[in-house]
Amino acid sequence: MILEIKNLSFAYKDGDKIKQLFDDVSLSFENGRFYCITGPSGSGKTTLLSLIGTIENIQNGQILLDGKNIFDDPASYRKDKVGFVFQNYNLINYMSAVENVALAMEIAGRKADMHQIIGTLDLLGIDKETAQKKVTKLSGGEQQRVSIARAFINNPNLILADEATGNLDGETSDVIVNILILLAHKFNKCIIMVTHNQEIALQADIEYRIENKKISMIKH
Ligand code: ADP
Ligand code: MG
Repeated sequence: MILEIKNLSFAYKDGDKIKQLFDDVSLSFENGRFYCITGPSGSGKTTLLSLIGTIENIQNGQILLDGKNIFDDPASYRKDKVGFVFQNYNLINYMSAVENVALAMEIAGRKADMHQIIGTLDLLGIDKETAQKKVTKLSGGEQQRVSIARAFINNPNLILADEATGNLDGETSDVIVNILILLAHKFNKCIIMVTHNQEIALQADIEYRIENKKISMIKH
């Protein structure tokens, strides 16, 4: 898989002013790598991830997955190709961990497979007993593991994580980062994580830093 961003420019209106976030940037992402997107607050990190997720509409330039424009059929792209992980987990609070992950399978048009769900949760450090609890009974770190399981369960190539460790303490952040690295290196996923934490970015295979409307690649 290769995800290519070509000649991307993006601007928004702020009152009567036009503010530009990106000016003709090109970059690419591949399987098996853990990427971090860094940059000052307000530099466009979330916007870039939203564009890659087809949540935000593209204005100028192209985003191609294996040569195919992701905006041609964004609904099936989101269903089959990409998983999302959020800072505040965005789990359904009245459901258990298992039910949250099962729902993601069903939304993707699959039958909930308990064996696969329990196995995936277990791989990510949620044992059988914890998996049956309402997610509100779980710690932040556990909830983030569940949300990663939800993103991973339909086996997308691409996982997008916006400040996935933003609500977690240092030690728990490290655990979550290690899980994301495992998914990249062992399961050959392309993980793209937005972070403002430079220590985490140092663990990325490749860091893309947004600065002055441009994006530069930093190899670690
Ligand atoms: P970051 O995640 O790096 O902090 P964001 O991508 O969230 O930055 O946003 C960058 C800036 O652009 C913010 O000030 C945000 O409010 C603004 N912005 C982004 N998209 C829009 C939009 N469609 N309309 C208005 N403002 C926007
Ligand atoms: Mg942001």
